[in-house]
Amino acid sequence: MYQKLSLYIDGKFIDAEGRQTQEVINPANREVLGHLPHATEADLEAALQAADKAFQSWRKSSPIERAAILRKVGELTRERAPEIARNMTLDMGKPLAESMGELISCADHCDWHAEECRRIYGRVIPPRNPNVRQFVLREPIGVCVAFTPWNFPYNQAIRKITAAIGAGCTIVLKGPEDAPSAVMAIAHMFADAGLPPGVLNIVWGDPPKVSDYLIRSPISRKVSFTGSVAVGKHLAALAGQHMKRVTMELGGHSPVLVFDDADIEKAAKMLAKFKVRNAGQVCVSPTRFYVQKGAYDKFVETFTAVMGSTKVGDGLVEGTEMGPLAHERRVPVMSKFVEDAVSRGGKVLVGGNPIEGNGFFFPPTVITGLPEDSMLMTQEPFGPVAPVVSFDDPEEVIRKANSLPFGLSSYVFTNSLQTATKVSNALEAGMVNINHFGSALPETPFGGVKESGIGSEGGSETFDGYLVTKFVTHV
Ligand code: NAD
Repeated sequence: MYQKLSLYIDGKFIDAEGRQTQEVINPANREVLGHLPHATEADLEAALQAADKAFQSWRKSSPIERAAILRKVGELTRERAPEIARNMTLDMGKPLAESMGELISCADHCDWHAEECRRIYGRVIPPRNPNVRQFVLREPIGVCVAFTPWNFPYNQAIRKITAAIGAGCTIVLKGPEDAPSAVMAIAHMFADAGLPPGVLNIVWGDPPKVSDYLIRSPISRKVSFTGSVAVGKHLAALAGQHMKRVTMELGGHSPVLVFDDADIEKAAKMLAKFKVRNAGQVCVSPTRFYVQKGAYDKFVETFTAVMGSTKVGDGLVEGTEMGPLAHERRVPVMSKFVEDAVSRGGKVLVGGNPIEGNGFFFPPTVITGLPEDSMLMTQEPFGPVAPVVSFDDPEEVIRKANSLPFGLSSYVFTNSLQTATKVSNALEAGMVNINHFGSALPETPFGGVKESGIGSEGGSETFDGYLVTKFVTHV
């Protein structure tokens, strides 16, 4: 049975009951899985009012109480993971093992936020006058509104919810309409863990209409979004008009720098496996592959062989290594990237055309010999299409890696400590991974620079976006 879909407002699960609904479709076979109710304006207002009312008491709750609920949700996540993972594979397509991996890491996110929320400290500032006491308090910002995408439906939502709730805020979250089961499961777990009504509210609808209503409302104080740069700029501008705090986790175009002195075979295999994870629909997916001349041929040969041997299919079928793209609309987007590359002299070594059939499948694709200003080298493909080019001079490749307006993740493969240090200092990126993939752990900060975003999620920075500073002085 697929997850029952509803709104969750003021502690109540609300069915469609005459509201507009949207079909939820399995991208592997177009089967209709369920119908998602859209919130009316009255529902959005009710969610904001509930969050506002709940904030008056939740802000005063003890961190011990908040920690207990977050820890309980971590436990429930581990317990219910098989069922939630299956539903997530059904509505967004990723292989079941990846869905399970996402859930288990999210249980760790719950534990981390449960532990860290007990360490939201203020400070005492030494006074000029010995009779004065002066303190800095960090208080919850208030009602937060959040918008999360479909590529890691559980992860993106739980990061925002645990940070808001752990800080003492309340939240209204619009999840991804195309893949809603994971966010729905989160609502049930918080309800079962004893979260008071109104602290967490879940709504669905037409994304621009919902975000416009929630951000303009005088009730909301903070906006958190994960998604594309274009939508992020729009929402940040709207938030700016109302002077609201933002956290923006946006797109990237992660450069990969493979130097001659790296273990080339290992790097090529690791990168190919990492590229097809979630069918490349990952904001930190390795995107532009720059390989030093001496290693280029060997890298391309191994990388292409591993990409080409990926088992593509329904994520519920055992042995599947890459599922479909999450939506029909993503398939022509991949073809457009390939067509542009080919028209500019690019050579397709493997893949390149949609896979015929009922689902939204596009194969792992490797393209070489394309110019620096092609679509694939400058725009985020958000899919399993990888351009590989060669470089000679380390200075030149650093300049190219930093040449785009994005700065999310980056990957470096070298056996030289000197090169690793030099390149990690020079890269304009929120995250630098050297010889392995180590981002996105609960205890490490995740976020971008330049147009890739504002603020971090995870790490000890995780609550920063949800707290305001208050200075108190008395004699
Ligand atoms: P899209 O830009 O239409 O939507 C991206 C996400 O933003 C979706 O979850 C959508 O519901 C939401 N969204 C769109 N307009 C919104 C609005 N006005 N208010 C609130 N939310 C809004 O594109 P898409 O076809 O769904 O996804 C493709 C692109 O989105 C990719 O190219 C990628 O850059 C980006 N994306 C990024 C991430 C990420 O993790 N950073 C995740 C998903 C999608």
